[in-house]
Amino acid sequence: MYQAATTVISSFFNGKVVIVTGSSVGIGRETARRFAENGAKVTITGRNIAALQETEKICIRSGSKKGDIHIVVGDLNLKETQESIIKETIENFGKLDVLVNNAGAMIPNMEGKRGIDIPDEELRAVMDNNLFTCSSDNGQSRLPNCSMVSLTRLAVPHLETTKGAIVNVSSIAAQPHLSKDFYYNISKAAVDQLTTQLAGNLILKGIRVNSVNPGATSTEFVTRHAGEEVKQQLKAAWETPDIIPIGRMGKVEDIAKVILFLSDRSQSEFIIGQHIIVDGGSSLLNNLMCAISVF
Ligand code: NDP
Repeated sequence: MYQAATTVISSFFNGKVVIVTGSSVGIGRETARRFAENGAKVTITGRNIAALQETEKICIRSGSKKGDIHIVVGDLNLKETQESIIKETIENFGKLDVLVNNAGAMIPNMEGKRGIDIPDEELRAVMDNNLFTCSSDNGQSRLPNCSMVSLTRLAVPHLETTKGAIVNVSSIAAQPHLSKDFYYNISKAAVDQLTTQLAGNLILKGIRVNSVNPGATSTEFVTRHAGEEVKQQLKAAWETPDIIPIGRMGKVEDIAKVILFLSDRSQSEFIIGQHIIVDGGSSLLNNLMCAISVF
């Protein structure tokens, strides 16, 4: 049985229209549910129709009317999926107030390669996946692709009309630190730069842009790429104050709450172009400094 605490932030979202990409599961699903709970009409999207229908049911159980949730099924890499998301949102709901660019993925090398040995096409794929526009293979590659740049471009004229908001979902991986599989980190650092640049440009049209940068959050993200066993191993290893000072991994609601806050002009109007880290304190830890602090 799905249970979630009711958290009404304000009446701001009543009648507002929101797109949440990657809302079939995980952070996106909980974000869609919270917008629905707060009175918004929501376009939910991903590739898995059954999971999207489950998100719709969850939104309805949280208070939404059936017609207030619209499903678009498709690969975000495809131009037609992006166009359908915007076109169907406007046709169904008449406007767009908030775009949450949440869909994203890590793409581990299948041959166990690490660092610079990972081939160029995989860097290109992860950049497409987390940031860019439609890839040249039009989504036929084994690697998923979703586009933050081109979907945003399609959304801007509508967001300008409503003086809306964009929230990009980045990661603490965007911060400078060492990683064996660093193409994901490069893509998320680029998402942060995109957020900064868009924020400065789009505020001139009245559109606010910010990002939420989650730390380790309990979703299917790791399971999808490394399997359930690895996820459980990581959870056991990470849920200690030495790794995450609060002592637990993030829950989807920890992230979704902040996405709603940044989308709510009545609460966060003066926040423009910021990257809000939501990670239980994990990015405060620096192994060398922690080692030194014992003296
Ligand atoms: P999940 O893997 O649980 O969900 C990812 C979502 O993105 C799914 O709804 C999936 O939909 C959608 N998606 C992925 N690729 C595509 C595609 N090509 N076309 C359409 N939809 C796509 O991940 P999370 O909820 O954990 O992650 C959400 C965001 O948070 C991502 O941007 C991720 O990088 C970021 N993040 C996550 C962290 C974590 O620890 N979980 C930490 C830091 C950042 P479907 O399968 O239906 O296609």
